[in-house]
Formats: sequence, C-alpha cells, structure tokens
Amino acid sequence: MALYIGSHVSMSGGLIAAAKEAHSYGANTFMIYTGAPQNTLRKPISELKIEEGKLFMEENGLSNIVVHAPYIINLASFKSSIYNLAKSFLKTEIERTQALGAGYLVLHPGAYTEMDAEYGINRIIEALNEVLTKDMNLYLCLETMSGKGSEIGRNFSELAAIIKGVELKEKLGICFDTCHTHDSGYDIINDFEGVMDEFDSTIGFNYLKVFHINGSLNANGARKDRHANLGATPDNPKGKDMIGLDAIYNIIQHPICQDKPLILETPWLDAKTNLYKEEIALLRGGK
Ligand code: FE
Ligand code: FE
Ligand code: ZN
Repeated sequence: MALYIGSHVSMSGGLIAAAKEAHSYGANTFMIYTGAPQNTLRKPISELKIEEGKLFMEENGLSNIVVHAPYIINLASFKSSIYNLAKSFLKTEIERTQALGAGYLVLHPGAYTEMDAEYGINRIIEALNEVLTKDMNLYLCLETMSGKGSEIGRNFSELAAIIKGVELKEKLGICFDTCHTHDSGYDIINDFEGVMDEFDSTIGFNYLKVFHINGSLNANGARKDRHANLGATPDNPKGKDMIGLDAIYNIIQHPICQDKPLILETPWLDAKTNLYKEEIALLRGGK
C-alpha cells in the first residue's frame, strides 16, 4: 500500500517538463491538462515529448498519472454544435491520454443549462455510449461536482444514474473531489466514513479511482466550488480553508485512498508561486 500524492502540473513543455515539475514538488504522481483547460487547441501527440517523459518518470518514481479533460467539453449540452464538439474532442483526448501512458481521464460530466438534470444525464449517457470503446485502456473518471449552476454530478445518485445507462461500465470511474463534495453538502469533515458508506451503496467502491485533494473557501453545502490551500490560515491571501487539515489527514489515511492518485488543485498565490511542494510535504508528514 502506498500513497500517491501530486498536483496539477503544466504540460506546456511536454510530458518531460510536467514530470520534472512534479518531481521538484516531491510528488510521486501528477495530473495534466493536455493543453489549455479552457480550449480544445492541442499539439500533435508526436510533439508531447512522451518517451523522455516516461523515462524520467520511471527513474524518479512517478506513476499513476491523471489527465483532466478541458472544462468546455459539455456532454450534457442540448446544442448540437457543443455536444458534437464535446464527443469528437473526447475521442481524441482518450487517444492522447493513452499515448501519455495515463490510466485515468477525469471529466466533468456536463451541465444541462436551460434543460433539466434528467435531460442532461440522458444526453451524457448517449454520448458515452458513442465514445467509449472496448479496446480503450483507461478509466474515464466522472468527477463529483460542487452543485454550482446546472452541473450534473452534484450528488452520488446522478453519477450512479450515468453509470447505470452506460454499456461499457468497466471503462468508467469516479474522481472524488474534496472541495466539491464538501460544497455540495457531503459532511467529509465530521463523517467521511459515512460519506464513503453512501458512496459504496449508491455507486460502488469499485468505481472510485482518483481523488482531488483541495480545501474549500466556503461552508459545507455552499455550492460554490472555490478551492483553498490546505490548512490555509487567514493571512493566506487566497483565504481560509473551511475543510481543515485534520479532515484532510483523516481522508488520506483512509484505506480507500491507498494506491490511488491523490491530486492537489489548490490555488496559486500569484502567477509565479504555488504551495504544492509545501502542501505535498504536509500530506506526507501526516499528524
Ligand atoms: Fe475538475
Ligand atoms: Fe477537481
Ligand atoms: Zn473545482
């Protein structure tokens, strides 16, 4: 049993640069966007410096890496242009993820905008049944969402409903985000065990593949989705974390977090400064 802890890192210099950045933080895993999270412009796979990156990862004990699909993929959209772009981009993102040797592709399930949740869930199911293939070699991990706006995935039942409708269920996983589940109303601070029981009975532990470890600037149930640095104190310019380090330690020490990528998506203090190295050390140090 091992703890795989890392953060989001930049892929702008290819896999090799991403791996070196992660290593500089003391990480043994990491998460990347294959390009800007806000758009679908992507470099060809041949320019991603994959072989050098894999070699560096092997030499430096980095593994279990995660790719995050861009936010603008919306498989729940009723607009055919957005929906079709989402499906075609997701197909190419699956190819890139596999080429990078990543076993997990995290996806925000989608937002139903002017329609309703039932419409959105069915639209996502239909898209996934088109996009997923038997021979793909990764888990497409639907992320638990914060309950902001019309995002699907704000509770375990919505995620379970998607899985239920997908034919190739064995290709699906779930990414559990601590900020999002806290914001959407799950009491991960006082009752993580109870939240896990509910996860298991509603979705099933076999689907739980990745964790995003973040603090939250807001109270339980606030439905905001604003990430905080771990254990951030009031003098941190990014604000105070309402989840707290004790709760985060309790979560990462849970058996369910062993052998799974635990990824920080905590805020940067400014354009040049993040706290990933310090936060990874905090998580490793435990209590
Ligand atoms: Fe996400
Ligand atoms: Fe997340
Ligand atoms: Zn978030």
